[in-house]
Amino acid sequence: MPEELKQQISDLGLPAYRSKQISEWLTRGCRDFSEMTNLPKTLREVLQEHFELYAPKMLRQQISREDGTKKFLWGLVDGNSVETVFMRYHYGNSVCISSQVGCRQGCSFCASTIGGLVRNLTPGEMINEVLFTEQAAGDRVSNIVLMGIGEPLDNLENVLRFLHLISHSEGRNIGLRHITLSTCGLPEGIERLAEEKLPITLALSLHAPEDALRSRIMPSNRGIDKVMRACRHYVDQTGRRISFEYSMIRETNDSTQQAAELAGLAKSIGAHVNLIPLNYVEERGMLPSTPETIRAFQKVLEDSGVTVSVRRRLGSDIDASCGQLRRKFQKHV
Ligand code: SAH
Repeated sequence: MPEELKQQISDLGLPAYRSKQISEWLTRGCRDFSEMTNLPKTLREVLQEHFELYAPKMLRQQISREDGTKKFLWGLVDGNSVETVFMRYHYGNSVCISSQVGCRQGCSFCASTIGGLVRNLTPGEMINEVLFTEQAAGDRVSNIVLMGIGEPLDNLENVLRFLHLISHSEGRNIGLRHITLSTCGLPEGIERLAEEKLPITLALSLHAPEDALRSRIMPSNRGIDKVMRACRHYVDQTGRRISFEYSMIRETNDSTQQAAELAGLAKSIGAHVNLIPLNYVEERGMLPSTPETIRAFQKVLEDSGVTVSVRRRLGSDIDASCGQLRRKFQKHV
């Protein structure tokens, strides 16, 4: 955008400093050129004539009473909608964005995939999720996680463009080191991303340490061996550590034996493990592991020398798990 904007501004015969002014407005989440009050009125009219600004419409917002997590349902120009979550952590604010409308990966515990994939989000729509969520939350974010609706590696070219633009020094300027991309583990996508050598954090949604179970709960599984090979390549190329996401599902993937197998996989590529108590999704009928089971699981990992964190369940009172708000909204319209 910054490069294209400069070009367009110069094509219109305008001085270069105008593109900087316009960029500043755009990175604040601007809905209309008339809001750009430090530009002369005639220039705002010229811009109105030549460009179109797409701003998402807030369809719903939910604010957690427990921890201040805010969730927004954004209406897109074509009538589709996606969810974005704003979270406060001790190290700063974080925004969790969606990368697709719906999802086609079919994970058995996830609400986002129930209606299948509708379409990919454009880079601009992903940028708008960040900017308009900041505006609506009344605060800036320092971190972005691509962990909302959709599989980012199934929309990789748009996601790469988004990463370039959101981290651009003349754009919103959020450092790539502050961005995490979470994937269900499409091996070709991981290999392709590795070639870009970006300093982002890659999170692999593993959820099971062996193929029979993983294929059952994650039909996109192409073999843990294959995913691990792609991850090793990613680590070699980027020098970045990978983290494993492991959602704990009662009596499914939470035995100490499974913890030991997971520890083996994590150690083989120096991965950090994030344990996430499953968020209950009405349609899915799976339950989270008990706190005692999670503690025992965590201990096995730690005793094997793996670094582990247990994710706080932010916003569990507001359906903050992937896809839940969009689904409820669809059911009511
Ligand atoms: N498609 C990407 C990113 C979206 S999901 C991926 O698969 O990683 C973000 C994370 O939330 C993933 O680890 C996903 O498996 C997990 N998740 C989905 N539904 C969940 C639920 N009901 N409870 C806990 N974690 C869930």
